[in-house]
Amino acid sequence: MKALPFGGVSGGHMDMPSDHLAITGQDFSDYLSKRCPGLKCPMCQTTENLMLHADSSDGPAHLLTTPVHVGGGAFQLGNYFITCLDCGHVILFNAHRIEGWVRSNKEAAGEGDANDE
Ligand SMILES: [Zn+2]
Repeated sequence: MKALPFGGVSGGHMDMPSDHLAITGQDFSDYLSKRCPGLKCPMCQTTENLMLHADSSDGPAHLLTTPVHVGGGAFQLGNYFITCLDCGHVILFNAHRIEGWVRSNKEAAGEGDANDE
């Protein structure tokens, strides 16, 4: 898969929720290359104009959090996301799935900290 362009915002960062691993744009791109090699917009089918949301390749991927209310409680659903620049469809990827993949890949490569799981 070709590299996706990064769509960034300049300026300050919001703090990441503490239970989220810091995923970089490159981590997200690596995940998509491995797990979604035929990535395309499910609405308009383009494979060309898909923008990965991150500050930069080595900067943080942008995390979209949405409160989900379940019964008497609530939790924050975290997603990393891509926007189709042709039709505007937004494609969400569950943050915990990507974080788990990145964590296991980095541990396999000997870069991770496996002590505090
Ligand atoms: Zn589209």
